[in-house]
Amino acid sequence: MTRDQIFEFFRRLAEENPAPETELEYGNAFQLVVAVALSAQATDVGVNKATRALFAKIRTPQEMLDLGEEGLKAHIKTIGLFNSKAKNVIALSRLLVDEYGGEVPDTREDLVRLPGVGRKTANVVLNCWFGQETFAVDTHIFRVGNRTGLAKGKTPDQVEAKLEKRVPQPFRLHAHHWLILHGRYVCKARTPECWRCPVVDLCSYRKKVLQAPGGGKQSG
Ligand code: SF4
Repeated sequence: MTRDQIFEFFRRLAEENPAPETELEYGNAFQLVVAVALSAQATDVGVNKATRALFAKIRTPQEMLDLGEEGLKAHIKTIGLFNSKAKNVIALSRLLVDEYGGEVPDTREDLVRLPGVGRKTANVVLNCWFGQETFAVDTHIFRVGNRTGLAKGKTPDQVEAKLEKRVPQPFRLHAHHWLILHGRYVCKARTPECWRCPVVDLCSYRKKVLQAPGGGKQSG
């Protein structure tokens, strides 16, 4: 994609959804860290279902420690990998209390020290809470970046580096949300819905699905 095409790509996604937000529910930075840590290999809807009751009473790392690992497990047992996630959330709460005065740090370097928090999670927190222009490459962004030609790469880090380089202002702050939503609802993994895609003419994917299944032939 050329620079002009990339600008137009985001202009159209932005036009459809001017102020996109994460679909995870949270009330403060700590709850966001916990929600993102719980969301690995789980849907946002599933995480929200589990965290609604949890976050109504647990707002700080100290409150999480007081709840304890078993208490936390009881809240999140509907989420995949809940045993190891509970362990991580308790451990990261301990670190936040012991070394950060119970506050969530605002640098990637510090965030990735937290158990269960990788580069992607750190980028989500930096973007959604601290308003930094980061690109948290999840499975949707990885797919959309590669299919469209916007940011091709063999690994999430490569795609992130391309996005860093290519996404123009004024779209950098919200770019990762637009790409996630686009991947989740239009450029879907199994069957991309190219027939209703707002950026179909800018996308370089060779196997575009230009008619809805059942609506006739598919074309590339
Ligand atoms: S045209 Fe199809 S493959 Fe390209 S971005 Fe749109 S939905 Fe995805």
